[in-house]
Amino acid sequence: MKNKIKQIAQLVYKSKYAVVMTGAGMSVESGIPPFRGTTGIWTKYGKPKLDSFSDFKKNPTKWWDDRRNLTIDKHIIELRESLTKAKPHDGHYSLARIEKARYIKSIITQNIDGLDLVAGSKNVIEIHGNRKRLRCLECNNRIDLEEYIPIYAPDPCEFCGGTVKFDTVLFGEPIPKDIMKSSRHEIDKSDLIIAVGTSATVRPASGLLWIAKSQGAKIIEVNIEKTKLTAISDYYIKSKAKSFFVNLEDELASNSNH
Ligand code: NAD
Repeated sequence: MKNKIKQIAQLVYKSKYAVVMTGAGMSVESGIPPFRGTTGIWTKYGKPKLDSFSDFKKNPTKWWDDRRNLTIDKHIIELRESLTKAKPHDGHYSLARIEKARYIKSIITQNIDGLDLVAGSKNVIEIHGNRKRLRCLECNNRIDLEEYIPIYAPDPCEFCGGTVKFDTVLFGEPIPKDIMKSSRHEIDKSDLIIAVGTSATVRPASGLLWIAKSQGAKIIEVNIEKTKLTAISDYYIKSKAKSFFVNLEDELASNSNH
């Protein structure tokens, strides 16, 4: 493992524009379960219907009421309870310092937990939104809630009158255009992608990895198990997210002292 981390540190060191893409596996060691994989909440409760955006659009008031009264899928309740307790782990903090040192230029996360921002990362694109925010479906105006509270149906947008929902992207909901554009911009600039804790199955976020590969970027996959991404990855590191980033930070620091 130490040799692999040395190799990865060399690649990061030599890269011109390295980007980290994280998935739910990044936050498992903060106590937030992923959907898939052996510890996944879908593995535990079964896979839900993946049409939550059409449910929301059919009857937004009912959608909000269901959340407040907990008449929702058990996996959503478990996810919400874990989010309220979660704090960044050492790997989130190492990643924030690696970014501060400019080894990594940006982080595209599929996570909705906001833990990268809490840990101090700056150039973070939350491609599936942030559960502590609301967003207008028409003009994309975002409002910070600062906590994961269940709330009553919010008023229409104060700027355009559009429907307001959680910033988190529901299944079947398009990624907001501003976010998709900035994610694609990062991918187009990247020559190295480190994909950590993602099953690489949720599109269009996962598709960015294939685009990066087709544009010549090297792909490093970090995961406790192999995924669809492994076949196109240049390196596969079997590791938990926390120890990977802690070890990578140590290695980069020792490289820069040479
Ligand atoms: P996923 O649930 O599909 O896959 C999680 C991956 O993480 C699996 O491949 C698993 O092997 C790996 N993993 C588990 N523990 C790990 C660890 N300690 N270190 C490294 N890897 C580990 O996750 P996904 O690919 O991100 O896609 C699912 C969607 O679920 C995303 O869109 C995301 O928004 C949402 N989600 C987010 C959170 C969160 O915000 N923390 C939690 C659950 C689901």
